[in-house]
Amino acid sequence: MSEAAAKKGFGEKPQPKEERRKFQAIKGTRDLLPPETALWHRVEQIAQEVFASYGFGEIRLPIFETTDLFARSIGLETDVVSKEMYSFEDRDETSISLRPEATASVSRAYLENGMQQLPQPVKLYTIGPMFRRERPQKGRYRQFYQIDAEVLGGSDAPAIDAELIEMVMKFFERLGLEGVQLDINCIGDKKCRPIYVERLRAELRKVKDRLGPDSQRRIETNPLRVLDSKLENEQKLIEGMPHIAEHLCEECAENYRGVKKELELRGVKYRENWRLVRGLDYYSRATFEITAKGLGSQNAVCGGGRYDGLMELLGGPPTRATGFAIGEDRLILSLQEAGKAPAPQGRDVYIAWMGEKAYATAIRAAENLRAAGLRIELPPAEQKFGKALGQADKLRARYALILGDNEVASGQWTLKTLATGEQIKLAESHLVDFLKGEKAKADPSHRSG
Ligand code: AMP
Repeated sequence: MSEAAAKKGFGEKPQPKEERRKFQAIKGTRDLLPPETALWHRVEQIAQEVFASYGFGEIRLPIFETTDLFARSIGLETDVVSKEMYSFEDRDETSISLRPEATASVSRAYLENGMQQLPQPVKLYTIGPMFRRERPQKGRYRQFYQIDAEVLGGSDAPAIDAELIEMVMKFFERLGLEGVQLDINCIGDKKCRPIYVERLRAELRKVKDRLGPDSQRRIETNPLRVLDSKLENEQKLIEGMPHIAEHLCEECAENYRGVKKELELRGVKYRENWRLVRGLDYYSRATFEITAKGLGSQNAVCGGGRYDGLMELLGGPPTRATGFAIGEDRLILSLQEAGKAPAPQGRDVYIAWMGEKAYATAIRAAENLRAAGLRIELPPAEQKFGKALGQADKLRARYALILGDNEVASGQWTLKTLATGEQIKLAESHLVDFLKGEKAKADPSHRSG
């Protein structure tokens, strides 16, 4: 062991009096275990299929970036940057942060990799963990997962926003997500929004005394966020505030009408919600949020919208862009609440072998059956017959393949169906075909070998 490792305590002998320390996952993080991970896998696979059908390609990004990237793109005064980022100093004193979202990184990657040279727009998606130091509760974690899609370059054609929304709605439909509600709004651009924000601020100041401390603070820092308030006693006051729709410049108003028309053309049902604003500063124009059933107060499963101003903030040329982020944890929770989780999968075959000769045969059988796409358990040590069948049952195996001296000598193997106790004899050469046929009958999606 190196001296450095020794200093850090690796390989130290446990002190006799020291209490054994139990390690636990950090608050707000959790392990995702089988069989639940099968549902995560399915969700991600369907995302990949649906997104590919719209021409999106996958981008894989670093988990950490310089703090400045997020501070610049998300805004220093947002909760995400000011309170929730996991930031630390690297050994060369650079400030680094675990990513709280993906859009900033995707935009950086677009510029850094010269993707402006590609045919525009560039359509990218990415799936992975994000980190925010929020107060954990159901559907809210400190390490959570997002499925993120971005359309970069291109124009401000309403069809781009509408197709993106159509894509995420199709994805939810394929998953069978229940109670899906799409809300849309237009939050103006850098020309008209500041005028509205000032107007809103002035109106909010008039009722300041009747608002809670968070909203009072936000009147000065980010008045749009006051519209987000869920506090019961603030609702009436907020309802009386001016609506952004009445303050949009003609270009934004025209663009918003276009987005709604395009959604209608695509048969996507939406609800207009003038109070829908995005917590992040770089958003402009069409903004949307999707909620789903079974999630309690944290019921937003997807948030998105246009962010035409971001690339310039990052030192790039003016670049149109729009995108969304799906909260994968919440999506999974909603599917589970609706009973959409796939049944846990057992083994197809448990190989109950006895004797050294049978072991060599069992290894060969396992190899052939696995190559045919079957889930096989080959116990590492010889077991008594009864114990082997007990194990096979616990692993919810469908069949036990019994291999003893007799089977090896005769070349006729015994296959026992565990649910019925029925036994048949099969030649080795027929076994793979028989089992593949049975599996295809039970699960029609498993046809190929
Ligand atoms: P945002 O990046 O804030 O626009 O969030 C997009 C989506 O990510 C939200 O609609 C949530 O579904 C999900 N999300 C955001 N923060 C968390 C969190 N702390 N835990 C779980 N999901 C989250």
